[in-house]
Amino acid sequence: MSKDNLIFPISPVKAAPVHVDALTINWHVTEACNYRCQYCYAKWTDHPCPRELFHDRDRSQQLLAELFRYFQPTNTSNPLRDALSWRTLRLNLAGGEPSILGERLLDITHAAKQVGFEVSLISNASRLTSDVIKQLAPQLTYLGVSLDSTHSGTNLAIGRLERSGQRLSLNELTANLDFARQVNPALKIKINTVVNALNAGEDLSGLITRVRPERWKVLRMLPIVDATLAVSDEAFAAFVERHSAFRSIQCVEDNSDMCESYLMVDPYGRFFQNQAAGKGSYLYSRPILPSGAAEAFSEMRFNPAGFRSRYTTAPGEAS
Ligand code: SF4
Repeated sequence: MSKDNLIFPISPVKAAPVHVDALTINWHVTEACNYRCQYCYAKWTDHPCPRELFHDRDRSQQLLAELFRYFQPTNTSNPLRDALSWRTLRLNLAGGEPSILGERLLDITHAAKQVGFEVSLISNASRLTSDVIKQLAPQLTYLGVSLDSTHSGTNLAIGRLERSGQRLSLNELTANLDFARQVNPALKIKINTVVNALNAGEDLSGLITRVRPERWKVLRMLPIVDATLAVSDEAFAAFVERHSAFRSIQCVEDNSDMCESYLMVDPYGRFFQNQAAGKGSYLYSRPILPSGAAEAFSEMRFNPAGFRSRYTTAPGEAS
């Protein structure tokens, strides 16, 4: 084990554990996406195997079972318990774009529910047709949708459109979200906005008022893979201030808030972490299968204070 990997600030944690409703594990099921956002950091390197894990039903099932076993609320040997205690465990399916998995996404969602997870999804919404929503929405606690701009020119410049040039209109999107709420009245909607050089001056108040999300995550563009659209401190602060009327549902994340404070699994079944600003790329654990979640997780840097604040500064649940 390298000296770098020995920096595990898992303990000692001085403050008493904070109790939260749900602990969230983000499984980035695929790197593939039908959009090509310039700032996209869904890119994983040093693949330990040739194919993403979701292709293999048995191994996907094993991964879910292992994650649940290790992170279930009653496992007192999990080092996260020094910082947090939690009532339920949520699996957040992310990507890439998870909806391009089609039936496999539904299979994974069902399998995760059967294992004992609550399930949420983060999507660019382009493939969430009413048929898909009808099947998926009843299984979900949260449906998260990424939305950066109401202007088609800005979305085009960011890269938020299909290769065919096809884009989802805001009317279609809001109608789909209304339908999802109809199908599952308990469903919570979350909007993720990446503030970047192209949308930092925009006012999204009208859109947020129309969609009525339970949470609005405002993320400062993270220059991990590409820094072209990086946004200045002032422009990011001005965006947040412009939308201060939505403070009660907002969760604002600057770059430093995103480092070592998420539980993330990559498409190959490894834990991974963002590195501190300027270092680029990710840090990876060994694959969770077959070594087990405890072994793999022990290789991860983890910032208990950052993690705790993710759960205590945002309304509702973190992800
Ligand atoms: S929609 Fe998400 S996964 Fe797809 S290119 Fe954009 S940032 Fe990347």
